[in-house]
Amino acid sequence: MFEGFTSSIQALMDRLKGRGIITESDLQEMFDKLREVFLSADVPLRVTKDILASLRHELVGKAVITRARPDEQIVHAVYRTLKELLGDEATPFAVDTSSTILVLGLQGAGKTTTLAKLAAYIRRQQPKLRILMVSLDFQRPAAREQLAQLGHRMGIDVYWTSSQDPVQAALEAQQYRLQNRYGVLLIDTAGRLHTSDELLKEIEQVTRQVNPTHRILVLDGMTGQQSLAVAQQFQQVVDLTGAIITKVDSGARAGSVVGFCSVIKKPILFLGTGESLEELDQFIPERVARRLLGDGDLATLWERAQTRISAEEQERVERAFKRGVLTLEDFSQQLSMLNKLGSLTSLMKYMPSMGGISLTAEQMHKGEHDMRRFRAIMSSMTQKERLIPAIINGTRRQRIAAGAGVTVSDVNRLLAAFEQSQKLVKLMSKMKPSR
Ligand code: GDP
Ligand code: MG
Repeated sequence: MFEGFTSSIQALMDRLKGRGIITESDLQEMFDKLREVFLSADVPLRVTKDILASLRHELVGKAVITRARPDEQIVHAVYRTLKELLGDEATPFAVDTSSTILVLGLQGAGKTTTLAKLAAYIRRQQPKLRILMVSLDFQRPAAREQLAQLGHRMGIDVYWTSSQDPVQAALEAQQYRLQNRYGVLLIDTAGRLHTSDELLKEIEQVTRQVNPTHRILVLDGMTGQQSLAVAQQFQQVVDLTGAIITKVDSGARAGSVVGFCSVIKKPILFLGTGESLEELDQFIPERVARRLLGDGDLATLWERAQTRISAEEQERVERAFKRGVLTLEDFSQQLSMLNKLGSLTSLMKYMPSMGGISLTAEQMHKGEHDMRRFRAIMSSMTQKERLIPAIINGTRRQRIAAGAGVTVSDVNRLLAAFEQSQKLVKLMSKMKPSR
């Protein structure tokens, strides 16, 4: 899926990878290269400019250069920008017993196939809903036959209209649906090779006749930017409720997806990912943004976590918290666990929405610095102090501070942080994959 785009972005990121320092001129070079990548993936120029402006705003002059893992920060910034552009949240596709779904688009875009996929999807979601499909494609002799065959194969009813006038036929299908109490009606329409006045007029009239709840544009993802012009023309005659981009399995251009979202401002509901009827994926912006960048998901973090933290260690700390009696010994263990997972910064990368907790890069950086100091302080405590922190009075604090080469207020800070550490455990439990 979007292989060309993904591999160019990855090549670009590989050049930055592992570099401790990224200069402003490195950034500028990266922006220039990104621009090429976006444009050659058929992302419209205007959209490309917007994306780059937003990245510039986020990265330039913000001391990216001095922070830990600048390459990761850059990838994350690109990811966030893409995700936002794709709509942030998935738009649910909901149907009920009053729904009528109309698909429209050019010839060969995948309307008939996609209509059948939608019917299959609805049936999986709501098996009790009675589904009726109808074709208003009288342009090609075999078009109606194609839908009839698909319906037959799936065991979903297809109505064969006697009229061959699209508007009349739509009226017939509506009546048939009511008389026979079908829950949902899916209407396939005729395409043309290009958006002609004739096609647009026909679509407009049919839409007025049936007043569909879902007006879905089916776009061939392989046509990239060209599909945008088509989308705009359809949008002018029918207020679209969303789009489905097809053929993302076979060389779809990233520009078709990115461009549609930013120019048409209607949600993409699904992606067609193959010729067979199950190959319809819900469009989840977060997931698509990740795929575009070729990034793994949370799973990557979990692999890391699993190999580096022994389950035993993890349980020990969890048990301590469950008992509600936390010793500094446990706390220290917890810190070293975090240390094994990698830096806080790289952990946060995998948790874009950490359930309300969000730390700035500054805070994370400070957190890491604190952690190193805390470990030093803890190593100059006695075993008894670590087990019963309540005994650490003023005199003991002075002794510990001197031993660790820090000030008393550092020790105080550690003890305060220790009290706060319940929050860290919550964080750890959030990071656990659902079993
Ligand atoms: P229509 O003219 O818009 O109704 O398009 P069709 O539904 O007849 O599809 C045209 C061609 O595209 C057919 O060969 C389909 O099998 C193929 N097709 C449709 N959707 C997809 C998809 O998501 N992936 C792939 N690889 N092929 C698709
Ligand atoms: Mg068709």
